[in-house]
Amino acid sequence: MAIDFSKGNGLVPVILQHYLTKQVLMLGYMNEEAYQKTLEEEVCWFYSRSKQRLWKKGESSKNYQYVVDIQKDCDADTLLIFVNPAGPTCHLGSQSCFGDDYFNLNILEETIKNRMNNPDEGSYTKYLMDEGLDKILKKNGEEMTEVIIAAKNQDKEELIDETSDLLYHLLVLLNHEELSLGHIEENLSNRHGVKQNYSIRQEIDKW
Ligand code: AMP
Ligand code: ZN
Ligand code: ZN
Repeated sequence: MAIDFSKGNGLVPVILQHYLTKQVLMLGYMNEEAYQKTLEEEVCWFYSRSKQRLWKKGESSKNYQYVVDIQKDCDADTLLIFVNPAGPTCHLGSQSCFGDDYFNLNILEETIKNRMNNPDEGSYTKYLMDEGLDKILKKNGEEMTEVIIAAKNQDKEELIDETSDLLYHLLVLLNHEELSLGHIEENLSNRHGVKQNYSIRQEIDKW
């Protein structure tokens, strides 16, 4: 279906979402020309309603929003764009225009990866990675045992706590083996019979 620019006087609302963390980053508007430029350059262009001109996001801040995937809504009058942002998407300096009070497993995974690149003094993640596979496997075994004990004891609070520890250590294990949550999601979604809109293969190829 062609994009319907007619309802909004030539403009469609565009939601930007982070391709890895899935955080909603901003809402902007595109006219047809901004959309074409976005396709050509693979970075987001918008139409600024206040300035009444085309605007390449990042033109002054350099925080370009690299396009990973573009989706239309049911009646093609709204776009959802998954992006890889070069820097904070909000011009006020936060990652998202809707604030940075946002957390999920994808963000935990990004944090784990970042600890490897620029390890903080005394990072436990870095310590585990340096110790190596056997240490990481031992920790995973211990945490799984603690999850089982908490469940056996019918202790919900403890179960939440121990599951949190286990998931963290599983993410460290995946990272150590140069795998990511994306591989697991892709596998699970295949089992579920859903073909993901963009392939995590791009990510796999980066490793
Ligand atoms: P930038 O495109 O990041 O170089 O920012 C240039 C100008 O565009 C800013 O000074 C704002 O006026 C506007 N702008 C940038 N990002 C946003 C945003 N996320 N929401 C609204 N306006 C923005
Ligand atoms: Zn719609
Ligand atoms: Zn903003």
